[in-house]
Amino acid sequence: MTKTLFTEQAYIDGRFITGKTSFAVVNPATGESLGSVPDLTVEDTKKAIDAAEKAWMNWRNVPVGERCLVVRKIFDLINQHKDELAEIMTKESGKPLAESLVEVDYANSFMEWFSEEGKRAYGETIPAIKRGTRLATIKQGVGVVAAITPWNFPLAMITRKVAPALVAGCTVVLKPASQTPFSALALAKIAELVGLPRGVFNIITSKDSKGVGKELATNTAVRKISFTGSTAVGVTLMQQAAETVKRVSMELGGNAPFIVFEDADIDKAVEGAIAGKFRNAGQTCVAVNRFYVQDSIYQEFSERLTAAVKKLKVGDGMKKGVQVGPLINQKGLEKVKEHVADALAKGAEIATGGKVIKDLFFEPTVLVNVPHDAAIAQEETFGPICSLFSFKTEEEAIRLANDTPFGLAAYFYSSNIFRCQRVAEQIESGMVGINTGMVSNASAPFGGIKQSGLGREGAKYGLDEYLEVKYLCYGE
Ligand code: ADP
Repeated sequence: MTKTLFTEQAYIDGRFITGKTSFAVVNPATGESLGSVPDLTVEDTKKAIDAAEKAWMNWRNVPVGERCLVVRKIFDLINQHKDELAEIMTKESGKPLAESLVEVDYANSFMEWFSEEGKRAYGETIPAIKRGTRLATIKQGVGVVAAITPWNFPLAMITRKVAPALVAGCTVVLKPASQTPFSALALAKIAELVGLPRGVFNIITSKDSKGVGKELATNTAVRKISFTGSTAVGVTLMQQAAETVKRVSMELGGNAPFIVFEDADIDKAVEGAIAGKFRNAGQTCVAVNRFYVQDSIYQEFSERLTAAVKKLKVGDGMKKGVQVGPLINQKGLEKVKEHVADALAKGAEIATGGKVIKDLFFEPTVLVNVPHDAAIAQEETFGPICSLFSFKTEEEAIRLANDTPFGLAAYFYSSNIFRCQRVAEQIESGMVGINTGMVSNASAPFGGIKQSGLGREGAKYGLDEYLEVKYLCYGE
């Protein structure tokens, strides 16, 4: 990869830098090294935070129209370099090229949305209830933001934090996942091309996620930490951030249920199931983890879903027509294998798939008659496995769907409008797909309840995450 946006250097204070040591980034589809990036330290992280703090002094005073224009220019450049960004993404994450192209657009939709919404960070005037005062509020950027992002959406998880932060007048220190630093660094190249002032956007690449994460979460200059990743790491970061009472946004693990009621359009439900399950080989936090199918249509749904799953083409995401790529690494593969073995040991049966193909590739799988005590019912699998459970009544379906510490996305299919309203209200999750397997877009609030997270990304709420409300009380 030797094109315009590919770089093997990290980015601090407007400079592309190398480190004392570096680490290799591997293509999970082929095992080949794609290049290496600096293995930066806690000291480097401090430097990046200092740079971001200095840059904030000026950036917060740049008129919002100008800040939004810079973000709009980033949007234009991402559009111009879509193919290159998608190639980098597929090579480092393994996701099929067609999906990477969709992700580049999705990632960029946050640049577009927030370049517009940034101008609408309205304060308000408040009627004073006593004589002699006038009350108002203004909204101002929180300050230096630390962002820590995962590998499953190497660009979109970054843009939905960075775009609102920049337009709000904040500066950013980003630590991308060590598996997928090149998509992040490509964004730094773009930031450089559009003339973002130095220090406004900084990227720390490091294998020391614990050390760097702790510095980001405890350094007094950092005012806010926004994290997307596992619940366990999110809890650690919240504990660390508590010391200095930082604002936090947490987008953590999910365990999405997908309920198919007997009055559902089964063709549409199968289509939604494939979309909601197999994107990124099932490695998304909104991926369906548990299929609950009403007993009267269980057989029909499982047969049709199995037929659709059998047609999925697995392989290197750079090859044409591939729909399902590899798992990200051996650890990810082991979890999938364990969940399948556990379900089978407890009585589930395989309708299709169930085995490793080779290396990090796992067969798209349908497991039927999965018992409710299987590990897969409680934990996020993050792999291409459909586990089908059956239920009898609506109450039972809701109880089972809610029986988890998580509450990110949920999906259900029904053609009864009253049931749709009832079930949508009773499902415990931040997002509900009703007769659809896809919910994410920049103009809607993305986020979870329970142990799936805090705060929302996208929509007007996603801007508020980077703003403080300041109350002004004028005496006469
Ligand atoms: P995943 O299992 O999806 O990799 P993680 O929560 O482990 O999820 O990783 C998400 C991001 O958090 C990555 O950028 C990773 O490097 C980072 N990370 C992992 N452990 C820690 C930690 N202890 N403190 C801060 N960041 C961490």
